[in-house]
Amino acid sequence: MKNKIKQLFEQQLNDWELAKNNYKALERVKVKTLDVNGHPYKVQFNPARITSSAAKVDPQSIQERKCFLCSENRPPEQKGLPFIERYTILINPYPVFPRHLTIPALEHTPQLIVSRFGDMLDLAQQLADYVVFYNGPKCGASAPDHFHFQAGNKGFLPIENERNWKNTIRIESENKQEMLNRFQQIYNTLPLQPDDVEPMLNILTWYENGKWITCLFPRKKHRPACYSAEGDANLLISPASVDMGGVFITPLEKDFEKITAEDIAGILDEVNLK
Ligand SMILES: [Zn+2]
Repeated sequence: MKNKIKQLFEQQLNDWELAKNNYKALERVKVKTLDVNGHPYKVQFNPARITSSAAKVDPQSIQERKCFLCSENRPPEQKGLPFIERYTILINPYPVFPRHLTIPALEHTPQLIVSRFGDMLDLAQQLADYVVFYNGPKCGASAPDHFHFQAGNKGFLPIENERNWKNTIRIESENKQEMLNRFQQIYNTLPLQPDDVEPMLNILTWYENGKWITCLFPRKKHRPACYSAEGDANLLISPASVDMGGVFITPLEKDFEKITAEDIAGILDEVNLK
């Protein structure tokens, strides 16, 4: 799998203009580090992410657009690798990580983790160089109508190196069934908001030294107040798994310049369930 993904990247960055340009641009993005709650958080100014951060995910907007994860609507240049006959591994053409994958289900089916957490563990084991993540339908997924995971290369998210990360429920085990049981137990205790089909959640999972590590981020809010605030209080930040793992993405330069550690701590307090 490792070599196949490496080859996929080489081929796509060679043949697909959009991906080539965006990965090249990523090498030059501005990054700053802030101390938030005693942890190092990176802030990345990434203009290509505006589509995702500003994505309209209300049911009507979703219904009116063509799903970009369905195979018939994908750009012809975008190639994929099959994974357990249920998913396709694709290069994400709007990267946050130097190596960033999107892994949609083959069929157009809603973002819903509960029956697929085992697939997430399998994926993390197979993609041992990557951190696999899941954004709930109201927690940063820009295609809530088409199930997908994402993955980014290890060595990028600050959370990987910090055992006592704030605001997360961390589970780890060498045993897949134990991971599934623990996940299910926690999942069952999380509140379900009216009209929702799953508790609001971001999940990061990776596999190292023969065991899985999963960080769950139960959420109470999709987008912070600053997202829609007027004037100087406005920050276009739509937090998802990557932000929870310690890399805040700002598609606008003005936000990159002005965002402070206090802003980030405030956003985390606002969107995370205690
Ligand atoms: Zn679709």
